[in-house]
Amino acid sequence: MRSYSLIAPAKINLYLEILGDRPDGYHELAMILQSIELADQIEVRAIGTDTILIHCDHPQVPSDSSNLAYRAVELMAKVFPDAFAKFGGVEITIKKHIPVAAGLAGGSTNAAAVLVAVDMMWQLGLTQPELQDLAAQLGSDVPFCLAGGTALATGRGEQLNSLSAFNSLYVVLAKDRNLMISTPWAYQAYRSEFGHTYVRDTQSLESRAHRVHSGPIVNAIRHKDGSQIGRLLHNDLEKVVLPTTPQVAQLREAFQSSGVLGTMMSGSGPTVFALCESEAHAQEVRQRVRGMIANPDVDFWVTRFSTRGIQIVSSVT
Ligand code: ATP
Repeated sequence: MRSYSLIAPAKINLYLEILGDRPDGYHELAMILQSIELADQIEVRAIGTDTILIHCDHPQVPSDSSNLAYRAVELMAKVFPDAFAKFGGVEITIKKHIPVAAGLAGGSTNAAAVLVAVDMMWQLGLTQPELQDLAAQLGSDVPFCLAGGTALATGRGEQLNSLSAFNSLYVVLAKDRNLMISTPWAYQAYRSEFGHTYVRDTQSLESRAHRVHSGPIVNAIRHKDGSQIGRLLHNDLEKVVLPTTPQVAQLREAFQSSGVLGTMMSGSGPTVFALCESEAHAQEVRQRVRGMIANPDVDFWVTRFSTRGIQIVSSVT
């Protein structure tokens, strides 16, 4: 039976600006997304029946049709019914290393990996733009997770402009394991509080997105300038999460006082990350912050920037 083994990396947000409201209920965003080496392992196996099975070793990840990986197969079956009839369903096994509901796109990257695997398993030969279109139907972060690296994402996050990717920066991640933040809640809270400041006309929205593209943080990324990138990190959602979630604010302050290049909450949180020049420095920061916050429920990871999205590790055909 055909099977594929894939690596599905997480992302952090180096930049997240909410530009406005969209008629479809989403927000118009300008984000800089960065792949990191922290990744889930995904196995996708043909099972020759018309079912979709999901196994995951994390108790908070659903094994039913609400799993984004399941929805990726469902979408492929709907768009390519003949291939589904010919090759049948799949069994997906997810080994979770990416914390769940953490602002690191764990579900999105799993869905992206499944799109890649099913494309190969069903011998569809889809092009990158075709895969990107399918990915955008599954969620705003899924197109980025496919390609990975460093990208400016606009629209609701699905319109990507690749930036020159590099992997020389190290990342310390910290997350209280009892804390989960729902992405819809964070955006809703932002809308309630700051909706009046939105830019309404399309032309101004485009020019603001363009300003980010030609702005200082993109320039710093182009020059691989870690200290400038660290100084220019930004996330509008911190304005609603920090005041309501003291654990996040506390981690942010602890990193800030530990001599890192920069620190920020990723996406809608609650994960906080800090950028460091070297692995040794990142390990030192992890130790120092662990000592400072004295909260045994906070988990830490040391990882680094990655230049890659979904990677196929092995296949049996
Ligand atoms: P994003 O950064 O894209 O907003 P996130 O990292 O905050 O996402 P996820 O880890 O994707 O959040 O989880 C969000 C919710 O989706 C969780 O409540 C989880 O139960 C559910 N979920 C569905 N499928 C998956 C999956 N394959 N992996 C992780 N969570 C999943």
